[in-house]
Amino acid sequence: MLSLNKIFSRLKRNTSRSQNSNAEPLIVPRSQHTISRSQISPAALKVLYGLKDAGYEAYLVGGCVRDLLLGHEPKDFDVATNASPEQVNQLFKRSRLIGRRFKLVHVRYGREVIEVATFRAPPEAEQHVDQQGRIVRDNVFGTLEQDAWRRDFTINALYYNIRDFSIIDYTGGIADLDAGKIRLIGDVETRYREDPVRMLRAIRFIGKLGLLLDDETERLIPQLANLLSDIPAARLFDESLKLYLSGNAAVTHELLCHYGLFDCLFPQTAEILHTEQDGYPRTLLIKALENTDLRIDEGKPVTPAFLFAAILWEPVRQKWQENKARNIPAIPALQQAATEVISEQVKRVAIPKRFTLVSRDIWVLQPRLEQRFGKKAFRSLAHPKFRAGYDFLLLRSETGEPLTELADWWTQFQIAAEDEQQTMVKALASTGGGKHKPRRRRRRKPAAKSE
Ligand code: ATP
Ligand code: MG
Repeated sequence: MLSLNKIFSRLKRNTSRSQNSNAEPLIVPRSQHTISRSQISPAALKVLYGLKDAGYEAYLVGGCVRDLLLGHEPKDFDVATNASPEQVNQLFKRSRLIGRRFKLVHVRYGREVIEVATFRAPPEAEQHVDQQGRIVRDNVFGTLEQDAWRRDFTINALYYNIRDFSIIDYTGGIADLDAGKIRLIGDVETRYREDPVRMLRAIRFIGKLGLLLDDETERLIPQLANLLSDIPAARLFDESLKLYLSGNAAVTHELLCHYGLFDCLFPQTAEILHTEQDGYPRTLLIKALENTDLRIDEGKPVTPAFLFAAILWEPVRQKWQENKARNIPAIPALQQAATEVISEQVKRVAIPKRFTLVSRDIWVLQPRLEQRFGKKAFRSLAHPKFRAGYDFLLLRSETGEPLTELADWWTQFQIAAEDEQQTMVKALASTGGGKHKPRRRRRRKPAAKSE
């Protein structure tokens, strides 16, 4: 089977394509590319054949075609068709219409969901674009060619045709894949203004695919990064998860900082990172992200709550110190800091409460883990989020906070037998550890009766 390089050398066609050229698409026949039906999920094949047999056009499109050509396993399979959403919905029993801005159909086979989209026309009509140039309505159906030009990057606009198994390329995606380039389709500024989230997607694809940005696609990001502040916080939450749970979070994070995009997502943390570039806040965050990447690589579960706890730790920690300096006791001081930082953060990235509640637990466990006298250590150990709190303590200790002794104590305590645990707690009294000694209750003398 031919490699991408060979496909490209065989098909020496124009590499820089423009929408106005009305050029015929590059069509790579089955014999000259590597995608075989055995790599496509049975569910996606059923949808493609179902549409084809009903007389419609049907293509695999987007990330799945790109990933298969690069030799990666696709995360999911998306289908594009000339059938309307209603027609698709009628054709497949287990399907439903979804979406507000874009109408799509989800077809379900077992656990798998195949997203089927009708070809879309470009958002040319003025009423579809707001003052910033952002697309507000985009549900006009179009042709395959129009659908290709309205996609984001050339490498995401390749279509696998179920009729003859060829790949159709209107925008130069094959050439860009071959050159390892992520190139925005069309005029870069217009396309970023239409949908600023494309800047985040560009960065995600560098991390995920190891490709580089085309010069113009790269150049405008720092200038336009601010446009992200107009994007709904719920959408930025979805994108943040994709960015940070991609398995390449450490690299992706550095890129987001480099291009000024992190500032728009997590402004409180970004401000601190700007002033303390090589200090503890950055070290802790990168280490947390490296751990996350490792866990994903090993197929272990990762919780977004831990990730957000790490990203927001430094603003929380600094506010916590300020509150303590105002004589607020440690735990309420931390709770107050957490509330302030979270309520500011969710204005930008709408982290759902089910995650922020756990992030808070992780933070509040930090001072609690210092208090080990009496029953306190046993209570912390029984806390439902103990493991995450302990992992967070380790992270802090490994990245420069003077907590090694405490972290080692907990490492030992949680695996010790109960009588050993009791001994460990008692030993704290003699070493002076354990933060506060249990206060002895003084017996009050009965007040002398006045005569
Ligand atoms: P992933 O591997 O992360 O799923 P993907 O490219 O498939 O990458 P999706 O979000 O699943 O990303 O989108 C599917 C396709 O829809 C993209 O490949 C692209 O063609 C198109 N698309 C997605 N988001 C946009 C956007 N903001 N603007 C234009 N086209 C987009
Ligand atoms: Mg996809």
